[in-house]
Amino acid sequence: MKHYIGIDLGGTNIAAGLVTETGEMHYQCSTPTGANRATDEILADMAAVASLCRRSAGLAPEDICSIGIGVPGAVNDALGKVYFTANLDWEDLPLSRLMRERTGIETHLANDADCAALGEVIAGGAAGYDSAVMVTIGTGIGGGFIADRKIFRGWSGVGTEPGHMPLIYGGELCGCGCRGCFETYASATALIRQTRNAMRAHPDSLLWEVCPELGLVNAKTPFDAALRGDEVSIRLLDQYEEYLAAGIGGIINLSRPHCVIIGGGVSNQGETLLAPLREKLKKYCYASKYITPPPVIKAQLGNDAGIIGAALQAL
Ligand SMILES: [Zn+2]
Repeated sequence: MKHYIGIDLGGTNIAAGLVTETGEMHYQCSTPTGANRATDEILADMAAVASLCRRSAGLAPEDICSIGIGVPGAVNDALGKVYFTANLDWEDLPLSRLMRERTGIETHLANDADCAALGEVIAGGAAGYDSAVMVTIGTGIGGGFIADRKIFRGWSGVGTEPGHMPLIYGGELCGCGCRGCFETYASATALIRQTRNAMRAHPDSLLWEVCPELGLVNAKTPFDAALRGDEVSIRLLDQYEEYLAAGIGGIINLSRPHCVIIGGGVSNQGETLLAPLREKLKKYCYASKYITPPPVIKAQLGNDAGIIGAALQAL
């Protein structure tokens, strides 16, 4: 049995697990990231959780095939470095070498959304498919392409960012500095913005009964109001699904995956979200009259996907 260690480096927690080559997680632990701390302190904690995982099975460093880290930012595994991260103040950090020095174990890097996609393909909702695209709908839109059960890192090795594909030319300003990115229209943050706008425009909408304060609106608010028959919410969600379908349709046309996995908080709406999305995708997927669009499925592993995918990125 081959063993790998996966570390999901989040802005809030460093989560780690001991994972077998078949994607089973045998041990899991986590510690707060403390994102404002010195890099050395964070690295020491990452090495400590890796050590806990290894010792949980009585293994020596040489018994671990590799450590894989999922980083919330842009990385290059071939160079072993992190270009930058959104939540930690890291720039041009030789993370692979620094972890190898602390653990004695070869270390690989990938973007955290890419790791989640791989985890779902190896052990989750997309098990059985060789290729998949995952779209994670959260604060932003994360995403990853899996080809032949491996992370597709692009031909330059720096990974893909489907959330920053332009959707509306000259549209809303994105955190990346561009305008009209997919995530500025289809993330949970975008849905909350669209819901607040609808509430301001429609003071008589049931949305105000579901959520009496604009500041308390979350991505579930319009779904709850739509369930009660609120016409404003039904129209708002129809438009939101249109953005989502246009973006995912574009991704499908570029990559033609075997399946599409939808993750993140908004995916908890399940079929309420996915059924209309599948219907709208027929319009955006090229030649869908002849070529059936890929199945669209809900992610299953939650946070475990990131650990499992990080661990097995070098498999
Ligand atoms: Zn962007």
